[in-house]
Amino acid sequence: MVTTRTPLIAGNWKMNLDHLQAVALVQKLFWALRDAQHEFESVDVTVFPPFTDLRSVQTLVDADKIPFGLGAQDLSVHASGAHTGDVSGAMLAKLACSQVIIGHSERRQDHGETDAVVAAKVQAALANGLVPVICVGETSEDLEKFGASAVPVAQLEQALEGVAAGTEIVVAYEPVWAIGSGQAATPEQAQQVCAALRAVIAEKIGDDAAAATRVLYGGSVKSTNIAAFMREPDIDGALVGGGSLKVDEFASIIRFQKHVGV
Ligand code: PEP
Repeated sequence: MVTTRTPLIAGNWKMNLDHLQAVALVQKLFWALRDAQHEFESVDVTVFPPFTDLRSVQTLVDADKIPFGLGAQDLSVHASGAHTGDVSGAMLAKLACSQVIIGHSERRQDHGETDAVVAAKVQAALANGLVPVICVGETSEDLEKFGASAVPVAQLEQALEGVAAGTEIVVAYEPVWAIGSGQAATPEQAQQVCAALRAVIAEKIGDDAAAATRVLYGGSVKSTNIAAFMREPDIDGALVGGGSLKVDEFASIIRFQKHVGV
């Protein structure tokens, strides 16, 4: 299938790198990609640093015209006020963030984020002009009991409750058992789930949105397996954790066309 969706490679830095290390990584990454401008222009790259690094990375991206998008790893359901420790969508938008990760399995696990909270965060992102990167995925227990698609499909259905037709979103299919384990899903299994997620997008926010939405695979993506995922028709990029912290590895993932041969 020929797709017109621009691939997206997203780097989730999680709780790693202080602001000086973050600036150094972005600079080195840009330098590593300097000879690949033609490939680099045909792929979107967004980095998702910790909150404390956003301002530093924003300044760098602005000043040096480094063409990376900037995103945050979470946001508050609240608009402002007495919510100690929270960061609002408006604050992120002011820092030129364009995307925000919502419902990452580590937030669901560490902070007890429910599907209702995820749905509220999707609304908070959209209210501030941020594109939500909605993460869904099954645990190994879910996989055993229900198969691969059932839980991610149910999570996405709830996350898209009340989202208007045609809204720009990104969806990341991240099997929980594959995150940080070194054990990625097979491209065939990931394709099957991503196709099911695209069907949910069509049902909830329309066929045009389903055709335009980037559905990413995440979970132990590396330079050695990215090409196989990118060959699948319903996989439009990757959400990369560990691999996005190493300059050469992340640059190589961004340059996946080299391996895909397109
Ligand atoms: C993630 O946490 O979003 C992720 C995909 O991590 P890793 O690439 O390290 O598996």
